[in-house]
Amino acid sequence: MMRGAIFGGNQLVMIQFKKASELRKYLDEQQKKGNSIGFVPTMGALHEGHISLLSKAKAQNELAVVSIFVNPTQFNDPEDFKKYPITTETDIQQLLDGNCDILFLPSVDEIYPNGPETGRYYDLGLLERRLEGEFRPGHFQGVCMVVHRLLDIVRPERLYLGQKDFQQCMVIRRLINLIGMSHTDLVIAPTLREPDGLAMSSRNRRLLPAERAIAPTIYQVLSFLKNNLKAGPLDTLRQQSVSMLVDKKFRVDYIDIVRPASLEPVHVWDGKEPLVALAAAFLGRVRLIDNLLLTATSASE
Ligand code: AMP
Repeated sequence: MMRGAIFGGNQLVMIQFKKASELRKYLDEQQKKGNSIGFVPTMGALHEGHISLLSKAKAQNELAVVSIFVNPTQFNDPEDFKKYPITTETDIQQLLDGNCDILFLPSVDEIYPNGPETGRYYDLGLLERRLEGEFRPGHFQGVCMVVHRLLDIVRPERLYLGQKDFQQCMVIRRLINLIGMSHTDLVIAPTLREPDGLAMSSRNRRLLPAERAIAPTIYQVLSFLKNNLKAGPLDTLRQQSVSMLVDKKFRVDYIDIVRPASLEPVHVWDGKEPLVALAAAFLGRVRLIDNLLLTATSASE
């Protein structure tokens, strides 16, 4: 069955679609009735961070659609793709608990009917050359490919993304402009953290106990940057933060202090302009990313 109704007691609680055309048809009917759609794209292995996006989508729209699709085109490391956790049954339970209306669970062929090479290049400029773009070549082209396709299918009034993937939020904001989807509002939701500060992530479950114990250092280091930020040169502070991670045996890809919208690095701060600090580092084989706004701006600005 391509379209599955999931019941709780006698009540229809969630509809699951596997076919893009069937989902589109259903959403057409809903949008004609004036029902707005909030869309949360995910790769599954859901946690409370994802569910917080669903809650926002529920609160601001008549219908919340969540997709689960582990997108092969955004993995530059085949090992990372192979090891990506798949937990569909518990995901479905969490979506039911979060009152999700519609789950879209497509196959690779459904998302890429003509194969993953669309031939389209998204001009993302500096946004894909720095930070994640530098360390994961091609990653953001893959992200744009899948989000473009998903937006074409779902055509939501609002798209919900987590600040946890800050650079991805900036890239998708650019994508929405590039593909002329201006009827879709981008809502960026705050990063949900474990009580010790570690940003929730599907990858955390791959950390060994000893790694899990030191993983919150990333957040401590970002907080250190925020608490010690002063107008003037920033490079010494940034270097100190790298050393704090190296001392705890992280392999650091980057820690950088940048302008939020353009991701241009800032070396000397005027004491006024908005800044965000972003970090990516390996603990063993697991790569963690996190970020923190250093000044009092919101990620949506
Ligand atoms: P993913 O399944 O990792 O592709 O994430 C799907 C969406 O959930 C993305 O918009 C992420 O930024 C968001 N997300 C992931 N982790 C968190 C978190 N800890 N807090 C809030 N949103 C998150």
